[in-house]
Amino acid sequence: MAVKLEYVWLDGYKPTQSLRSKTKIEKEFSGKVADLSNWSFDGSSTEQAPGGSSDCLLKPVYVVPDPQRKSAYLVMCEVLNSDGTPHESNGRALIEDDDNDFWFGFEQEYFLWDNKTNRPLGFPAGGFPSPQGPYYCSVGAANAYGRNIIEEHLDVCLEAGLNVEGINAEVATGQWEFQIFSKGAKGAGDQIWIARYLLERIGEKYGVSINWHCKPLGSLDWNGSGMHANFSNTLLRTAGSKAIFDKVCEAFRPVVKEHIDVYGADNHLRLTGKHETASIMDFSYGVSDRGASIRIPVGVPANGWKGYLEDRRPNSAADPYKVAARIIKTVKSVKA
Ligand code: ADP
Ligand code: MN
Ligand code: MN
Ligand code: MN
Repeated sequence: MAVKLEYVWLDGYKPTQSLRSKTKIEKEFSGKVADLSNWSFDGSSTEQAPGGSSDCLLKPVYVVPDPQRKSAYLVMCEVLNSDGTPHESNGRALIEDDDNDFWFGFEQEYFLWDNKTNRPLGFPAGGFPSPQGPYYCSVGAANAYGRNIIEEHLDVCLEAGLNVEGINAEVATGQWEFQIFSKGAKGAGDQIWIARYLLERIGEKYGVSINWHCKPLGSLDWNGSGMHANFSNTLLRTAGSKAIFDKVCEAFRPVVKEHIDVYGADNHLRLTGKHETASIMDFSYGVSDRGASIRIPVGVPANGWKGYLEDRRPNSAADPYKVAARIIKTVKSVKA
């Protein structure tokens, strides 16, 4: 029986890249990424090449069974120029973590978006629901909106073999979160992108869009969406001293701009110092501090100063590849 291979990649739109994909039919497929061939696409339609020389290459890097289709696979790809070098839109190629020493846990927040009202799911047409408070981790039709969608999403993610660690309803109406953890930065990015893809496709089925913008309700008193990046490497996992954690955190201070540059568009709207965020130009860190740029989880000192850090600044629309690449660069600059 023929096999459907959905080649998935990121386009070249700035400042926020979107998912693109197309189907390749093969007679058979082993299920192994090494057995997949490169493919090409028209880069002039995705802001990735000029019309006169439009071919870009798709290099398969990660493959999972596609639970939403019969005899099908999802194939995450890197985009290469026609000469085989990484395309400038290819954030995955920037990740320097060949030994998978870096572990990442991303907390992906997003809004389910009602296309008819152009508001979050659960917002009454032309008005507002009651203020934030009852929605976070809620149950019941008065407060939780779109559970059928997010439950279906969780099931297909698990069937695809993604390492989802949890889901929860978030602070705003129609806002949800899933968490994905991976030992290896590239794998974490691959899984976040495939999870986003699966969610977009479920949204099509219900006529609900996924709004990845970090502050879709603007300056109104509603939470924005983040993608907190929890990370560790051998140094942090085995540190055993507060001094090492301080040193790693301090390494982030002089490169605030370099980090914010890849932490997602419009982050100044979200990182205001309100709604559990730190102000965009400030840099701070602290144990258990959800108003800081970087939070040291309370378990770290409790565990003899071993564990991980949470950078709370990346937003929901950020590219996890670029976020991970930048964090790795900064952490690797620390000499223990
Ligand atoms: P909170 O909402 O309290 O900030 P979550 O439970 O939503 O926290 O997310 C915490 C994340 O931290 C999870 O994705 C988890 O996998 C990740 N994590 C836990 N330990 C490590 C570690 N050693 N290295 C990297 N990430 C980790
Ligand atoms: Mn969380
Ligand atoms: Mn959250
Ligand atoms: Mn968090």
